[in-house]
Amino acid sequence: MVRKVLLASPRGYCAGVERAVETVEKALDLYGPPVYVRKQIVHNLHVVRDLEARGAVFVDEETEVPEGQTVVFSAHGVAPAVHANAALRRLKTIDATCPLVTKVHVQARRYAADGYTVLLIGHAGHEEVVGTMGEAPDSIVLVESVADVATLAFPPDARLAYVTQTTLSVDETGEIIGALRARFPQIYAPKKEDICYATSNRQWAVKEMLGEIDLLLVIGSRNSSNSNRLVEVARANGVPSYLIDDESEIDESWTVGIDVVGVTSGASAPEKLVDRVCDWFRSRGVTEIEPFRLVDEDVEFRLPVELRRELTLADAQR
Ligand code: SF4
Repeated sequence: MVRKVLLASPRGYCAGVERAVETVEKALDLYGPPVYVRKQIVHNLHVVRDLEARGAVFVDEETEVPEGQTVVFSAHGVAPAVHANAALRRLKTIDATCPLVTKVHVQARRYAADGYTVLLIGHAGHEEVVGTMGEAPDSIVLVESVADVATLAFPPDARLAYVTQTTLSVDETGEIIGALRARFPQIYAPKKEDICYATSNRQWAVKEMLGEIDLLLVIGSRNSSNSNRLVEVARANGVPSYLIDDESEIDESWTVGIDVVGVTSGASAPEKLVDRVCDWFRSRGVTEIEPFRLVDEDVEFRLPVELRRELTLADAQR
């Protein structure tokens, strides 16, 4: 019987997700439905369904958006070719790419322009990786693991730089960077870590909590990279962990013989899902539900400039 639930902190929405979701909401208020969104605005099923109910239409590619319509680009970023396609279709674009992803795009572009081959540490097929690689397709090589480093066929003195996806495991990425530095000591590194503050804080919070819990539930969708990393952090340290979209996915058998359950949520999971998981435990007699070492984050991003401009115009006309 579970005695206690500990809630990791920080957890849930990051500043980039907050901004991206608000971007779609404001665009719907301003233009009315439909507002097209290329890919899932953030990787969370509940967020996507809620926005769909309000009139957002999610498409896979900008080429599916009718000419002249409004389209929002997701928080994960897009390749320059997507902007070009959108211009050809005369789409009104609002770019909700997280500024921390844009920072990686800018770095990759700059390194490539300076003649470096850019090693992008990340996961093949993830939207953020696809977007970053599109900045300089001929100069960027994807590295997914330490094993990949051994297969790189560059001479030891090659002009190399690296950047990383923003939502990786801090520990695994450290190992990959270590392997790169060992093989190519001259490799040029970004001045500041590319793994974003939200990803590293959520992993740090889980690590801090692991000594106190017997099971970790991570609220997040299957395609949420940073949520999957949280599960891995727990499992790598011997604590069983499961990724759940919401309380309906909790399997009662997981809690057999468990005293304390830790709960966290990925950067794209709304807090109401944490409340629902807490209610699930309350309805099974758990009375001790406590935050674990509450730490506040105070990062905020302004809405995309193109949207702010239109909102100001609309205000002036009222
Ligand atoms: S997880 Fe990090 S990079 Fe991704 S949207 Fe949030 S703050 Fe931005």
